[in-house]
Amino acid sequence: FYVAYSFPRVSVYDDYNGWDMLAHNGRQEFYNDFNDYSFAISAPKNFVVWSTGDFQNPEEVLNPEYLKRFKESLKSDKIIHVANESEMKSGKVTKQNEWNVWKFKASNIVDFCFALSNHYVWDASSVQLITKRASVQAAYKVGAKDFEKYTEWMRYNLKWFSENWPGVEYPFPAMTAVQGYADMEYPMMINDTSIPDDFQDARLTADHEIAHTYFPFYMGINETRYAYMDEGWATTLEYLIGIAENGQEKADEFFKNFRVKRWINDASAEEDQPVITMSSQLAGSGYGNNAYVKSSLSYLALKDYLGDELFKKALHNYMDNWNGKHPIPWDYFNSMNAGSGKNLNWFFNNWFYTNHYIDLKIASVAQQDKQLVLTVENVGGFAVPFDVVLTYEDGTTEKGHFTPAVWEKDQKMTNLNIPVKKKIKSINLDGGIFMDYTVADNLKSL
Ligand SMILES: [Zn+2]
Repeated sequence: FYVAYSFPRVSVYDDYNGWDMLAHNGRQEFYNDFNDYSFAISAPKNFVVWSTGDFQNPEEVLNPEYLKRFKESLKSDKIIHVANESEMKSGKVTKQNEWNVWKFKASNIVDFCFALSNHYVWDASSVQLITKRASVQAAYKVGAKDFEKYTEWMRYNLKWFSENWPGVEYPFPAMTAVQGYADMEYPMMINDTSIPDDFQDARLTADHEIAHTYFPFYMGINETRYAYMDEGWATTLEYLIGIAENGQEKADEFFKNFRVKRWINDASAEEDQPVITMSSQLAGSGYGNNAYVKSSLSYLALKDYLGDELFKKALHNYMDNWNGKHPIPWDYFNSMNAGSGKNLNWFFNNWFYTNHYIDLKIASVAQQDKQLVLTVENVGGFAVPFDVVLTYEDGTTEKGHFTPAVWEKDQKMTNLNIPVKKKIKSINLDGGIFMDYTVADNLKSL
């Protein structure tokens, strides 16, 4: 059983909209305030409870052998099998009171949920972060091949997110993954479908849901109105950790196939509504593409534009200013401007307030001795980075990268002078994950 959204709560009152009056209509996600929670969950004997928060009373509900294994997991880098399926079914794991009361506590957190089972396998380990050890646990049906790996994957991703992107320490004491059907994030808990035949997909699903720890939970994002402020970042972090796990090529391939391809090849109008559009006003592909795809591409384009160091500095400025509060899109824009020391308004206008898409075109190209004079037209409009791939007549190739800075002065057209070594046969504009709507006009023979 997985029990979420299970208790009445006070609506958020913020200084922007007053009381949050938007009804939950099933598509959008949530907007919750920061609270302190103490939960006591009464469960029949032989049911183990996993929950948001610090587990307060393992001594009162677990039998000694399983208590010992659980406690060992809190100090160990190894994967501890706290209880296997036959142990769970044997009546040995929990105290044999008719009911056991499982207690959990969490402070300054936006939601609380729990799961319970009398037959799920229970794995646990922990990982040393900068200031603390965090517990990682998995609860799943015996034989779920991907979930057998989850505890190890979570040891990796909690540390990776803490040290790389966003480069902010995982803010909670625990993370538990429970097998279910939701692919959904909760503070300190995720509920994922088993994908036993595709470990890359399964692992990226876990990475994505755990990345949500930062957006929306750590940052207090209003997901109902601004889904692109949480899904866009979870999608971005999923892509970046995917590079570390699977290499650049596979990560790009996955991101293109799973995120970008459907959007860029679909000419329908509803998905062209500007990213800034309130998520509660969107439906169908308009919701998914704004929340996940276009927003994520904007964050990655900004990373390319600023470079990793300055982008991280600006991102940390945003996260430091707004964690534990409720930032709105304009807080993000202002924090990134201040943190980078640049006025990025042209960039935010370009990505958030337009119906742009991605379509570059070679308007003209000519080789003048050791110089290539190239004019690129931005038909789609988004300020994207791209590579210019040169193929020389002798068959060798060379690549030059251009960041979105080329669109700062003129967002429709850019003139590039590229030094070249030999006679050029053909030239190609390659956006990589910034997939182009019409690739044919990105290629030109000289
Ligand atoms: Zn998500």
